[in-house]
Amino acid sequence: MSHLRTQFPFFRQHPELVYFDSAATAQVPQTVVDAITDYYIRAKVNVHRSGYRLASQLTDRFEQVRSDVATYINAPSARQIVFTYGTTDGFNLLAQALSSRLKAGDEIILTEAEHHANLVPWQQLAHKLGLVLRWIPVDKHGAIQWQQLDSLLSQRTRLVCFAHASNTLGAYAPIKTLVAKIHAVGALCIVDGAQAIAHCQVDVQAMDCDAYLFSGHKLYGPTGVGVLYAREGLLDDAAVYRSGGEMVQQVAKSHSEFQPMPLKYEAGTPNISAVLGLGAAIAWCRDNLTDAIFAHEQQIYRDLRQGLSARAGIELVGEDTDGVPLILFKSAQLHPQDLALALDAQNICVRTGKHCAMVLHDALHSDGLVRLSVAAYNNRQDVERFFSALDRALTIED
Ligand code: PLP
Repeated sequence: MSHLRTQFPFFRQHPELVYFDSAATAQVPQTVVDAITDYYIRAKVNVHRSGYRLASQLTDRFEQVRSDVATYINAPSARQIVFTYGTTDGFNLLAQALSSRLKAGDEIILTEAEHHANLVPWQQLAHKLGLVLRWIPVDKHGAIQWQQLDSLLSQRTRLVCFAHASNTLGAYAPIKTLVAKIHAVGALCIVDGAQAIAHCQVDVQAMDCDAYLFSGHKLYGPTGVGVLYAREGLLDDAAVYRSGGEMVQQVAKSHSEFQPMPLKYEAGTPNISAVLGLGAAIAWCRDNLTDAIFAHEQQIYRDLRQGLSARAGIELVGEDTDGVPLILFKSAQLHPQDLALALDAQNICVRTGKHCAMVLHDALHSDGLVRLSVAAYNNRQDVERFFSALDRALTIED
């Protein structure tokens, strides 16, 4: 949408580029840049510490972002919003925090499509505690076999962790149905929202999940900040993650008492400018990410999918759904890496490789794929320029 695109300085700097890599990181609107520079120019003080006016005003602004995030995802209260450094950091936090509730033989269920961020921390924990990882498979077309959850769930299941929408396959998980089954065996449901957050309205209460995680930089915000929503009570008695200043209430030589949620998980000086930038991103999303914009993204996705299907030698991987607007494909003529280089030479930015999802690539017997991912600022011209570059790359190869 052109009125949105003009708000993104990146596209003024790079009018020549077609950017189809927003699933890796989305561009930021000017308001986000302004919020960050404003902090450094007008209020570079710390939060939650000093009592002078500038510092207490900044703490209020910082805490206002927490409330705005809670409202944006319909969390019951800001107490349940922990600022992390990103989704990966949030999963490491959860793995550490929940470790005290787990013992040898307990089971964690994941899907084969998970991003390494929602896989390696659990694998590490499994090695440490003797937990068992169980897997919901993906079929050869790239469809997650959700119906297999029924046979994997048991009294030993403690956690089920999956993406709201994966960074490779795009389809939304049927969360409500899954959560009901997971809770029926007394397990927790942890949802990786890194990709979905920018493409649909997230309502954590309607989902009824126990935790929901995302990164600011995929939601038109800055890097270095993320959000962990934790259901009321989930982490109150859980183990701490990082420890040090600000997460403590009392410190004596022999022991320390910790702050209640959420500060107990925010040791040290947070990434203040990034939190303020996230606040601006949330405001931008609230004002701009309408159903019409989501429909616009879907239209771009559909046009890309159709154009790719119509070309000989292109194989699409993953279901055709109205999930997050991303497409995985490969070409019979060119290795994904060579295709990406040929596209880059024509100013088209795409992602290739295994997309931080090696278990998925093993399941698909794939050694790499090309990914196109769409955001609110992409337009019809991007699609046309992509196809003329693709045709040129494939023709040159012929
Ligand atoms: N989960 C999914 C589905 C992702 O797409 C990503 C990033 O690509 C992550 C987790 C990790 O996010 P971050 O690198 O911001 O920690």
